Amino acid sequence: MTGRVTPEDTGTPVPFAQFIVKAHGRCNLACRYCYLYEGPDTSWRARPARASDAVLDRTASRIAEHARAHALPAVALVLHGGEPLLAGTGRLAAFTGLVRERVPAGCHVRASVQTNATLLDARRIDTLARHGLRVGVSLDGGLPAHNALRVDHAGRPSWAAAERGVRLLARRAPGAYAGVLTVVDPRTDPVEVYESLLALEPPVLDLLLPHGNWTAPPPGLPPGDPDTAGPRTARPTPYGDWLCAVFDRWFDAGRREVRIRLFEECLGLLLGFPGATESLGLDPLNSVVVETDGSIEQVDSVKSAYEGAAATGLDVFRHSFDEALRHPAVAARQAGAAALAPACVACPLVTVCGGGHYAHRYLAGAGFRHPSVYCADLERLIRHTAARLAAAAVGSGT
Ligand code: SF4
Repeated sequence: MTGRVTPEDTGTPVPFAQFIVKAHGRCNLACRYCYLYEGPDTSWRARPARASDAVLDRTASRIAEHARAHALPAVALVLHGGEPLLAGTGRLAAFTGLVRERVPAGCHVRASVQTNATLLDARRIDTLARHGLRVGVSLDGGLPAHNALRVDHAGRPSWAAAERGVRLLARRAPGAYAGVLTVVDPRTDPVEVYESLLALEPPVLDLLLPHGNWTAPPPGLPPGDPDTAGPRTARPTPYGDWLCAVFDRWFDAGRREVRIRLFEECLGLLLGFPGATESLGLDPLNSVVVETDGSIEQVDSVKSAYEGAAATGLDVFRHSFDEALRHPAVAARQAGAAALAPACVACPLVTVCGGGHYAHRYLAGAGFRHPSVYCADLERLIRHTAARLAAAAVGSGT
């Protein structure tokens, strides 16, 4: 079964509210694990390095058109790469201004860039902050050893430049500092990674599981077939264990040190609130990508599955975002429980887990309708979070 879901299965599509625009399609780093440039999808090679004026102009108009058609009160504009700062901060600011100018009155544009921080200097930080662009930083931890795989194209470590950039951002423009995004490496000491990141003073931490699937599993998990992998209670949970250790450290400190989106999301879903990230929950995905050539694509994580996995065949010159909403692959991401494997539908954790990240469900030749390759890790985290929440509620007498 390929798990193909059509818009008919899902009812009315949910409009896009997050537009991820590839302002620049190359990176000044060559991180050893990068799924974008070292993974199975090589479509970036045929695309222009930088989005042209025509692509950015048309993208701004398409975003405005979508905001108007759906009377959106707000949209998120995420300037991504590669390394978006390679496009030039003036150019990023001008594009953001164009989007703000064209969306209807009353539609708020929350704009941000996601950077490896190595190019952040005072001038660039000031330009971004002045134009209302918040800055998210991608790091693997707060110490040189954590970032050993984040190297430039000559294999030289990037940590010194990244640390300089992120500390300058925290000091010079704390209001523009959106937070740090870190991919979990279970070979590291979880509490050491957490505390080292705290030292960089992020307002928010995003802890992400590395992209992998049943055919190309993440480090530490065996390859296999979800139908024959055996009971999840018998499988290793290196990522769940790592996350639980950080959760305990964070929870025991009263959750005051920093916001951790994954944990807040898990707690919220356990309490019955709607979800807001791709990693957990059953809420429809409302993000879409515009590549440097104007192609409209699904979010990048799907590229970790196979060549061309994110493609839709649509582009901003010929197609509206409404047309992208009707694309079967996008519909599958909005289908919630209708797109899940039978094992997930029957799982008692499904309203919190949601089958995990879509990209992590893939099995070559059999599509995405499977439990996550992180099924056992997700169960470990969710049950641990639920137990801590229940104990805290008893302790407080609620
Ligand atoms: S992936 Fe999540 S919802 Fe699916 S079976 Fe595993 S724990 Fe349950």
